[in-house]
Amino acid sequence: MARILITGGAGFIGSHLVEYLLRQDHEILCLDNYFTGSKANLLHLRDHPRLEMIRHDVVNPIMLEVDQVYHLACPASPVHYQYNPVKTIKTNVLGTLNMLGLAKRVKARILLASTSEVYGDPQVHPQPEWYWGNVNPIGIRSCYDEGKRVAETLMMDYHRQNGVDTRIARIFNTFGPRMALNDGRVISNFIVQALTGQDITIYGEGQQTRSFSYVSDLVEGLTRLMNRDGVFDPVNLGNPGEYTIIELAEKVLELINTPSAIIHRELPLDDPGRRRPDITRARELLDWQPTVPLEAGLKETIPYFAARLKQENIPVAASLNF
Ligand code: NAD
Ligand code: UDP
Repeated sequence: MARILITGGAGFIGSHLVEYLLRQDHEILCLDNYFTGSKANLLHLRDHPRLEMIRHDVVNPIMLEVDQVYHLACPASPVHYQYNPVKTIKTNVLGTLNMLGLAKRVKARILLASTSEVYGDPQVHPQPEWYWGNVNPIGIRSCYDEGKRVAETLMMDYHRQNGVDTRIARIFNTFGPRMALNDGRVISNFIVQALTGQDITIYGEGQQTRSFSYVSDLVEGLTRLMNRDGVFDPVNLGNPGEYTIIELAEKVLELINTPSAIIHRELPLDDPGRRRPDITRARELLDWQPTVPLEAGLKETIPYFAARLKQENIPVAASLNF
């Protein structure tokens, strides 16, 4: 049994990780400022004897004694990370610095939840870890993608300079239950729009691509990376299945009987044109690959959103087609 700190543990991915690690008999400290996460994500574990919840903002230092740190604290949806961009940079830079300081002091192993956004609008496709990326340093996404790039730099420098036992996971678009209703990312938007009978908003022509990983696959990859010795270079964790945003909308409309129509909205600035992970390194080093195809993941996620809408008394104007 290890003592494990999970920053951002009340968020979408964090809450699944908390649940998984509690099942492995570990003791979990879940740290969150509840900006995009919520206590409701962990309500079912509220009385668990091995879970402790700490309200704390990672931009401030904290002293804790732990064996491992999963550092996830950071808003992940463009809508949320652009809400207060300066805070997003502080969270990525000061937050990672503080967690690295903690890991160094107590000799804990630390894993950073980095992102495929470090590749920016990629000119190499699919994206292997050796690709340095094509990122706009002064754009509206920079607070997040440049923030994560600095966070990766900090991880490598603390490793080289101080011998901190670091791991860097480059996470590609991930979805599943416990995404917030107002998350603003594409899968949650499309499902909520289809369920409530609002029009499905495709940004731009919808020919841009993304690769979507179901959350249970991601959690498996994160824990394998954390527990593999000696992997200090970044590792991509994502599902190589690649879909245009139009194809995604069509998939959602196949699974939900809805009066919603597809409409187009302006493409946000710097929106990457394509994205797909090369997961050779994860396959070789972690013996990991995704097991949940997009449609199976959607069939788990759609009923979750239907239940959430009901909880919030938001009328559902659609029925499920599966
Ligand atoms: P999320 O927004 O649901 O979770 C982030 C959590 O961090 C929330 O609980 C939030 O309240 C907390 N948080 C934010 N700022 C904080 C701060 N300053 N101090 C303490 N807590 C803070 O997002 P998620 O999808 O679960 O993402 C988790 C991590 O994974 C993030 O670091 C994100 O960058 C990374 N990631 C996610 C995806 C994805 O597709 N979901 C892809 C790439 C990377
Ligand atoms: N997108 C869309 N409609 C929406 C939300 C997003 O067409 O309602 C598009 C967005 O422009 C991007 C893709 O879907 O091309 C993925 O967006 P998301 O915000 O989920 O993630 P990211 O852009 O960070 O990969």
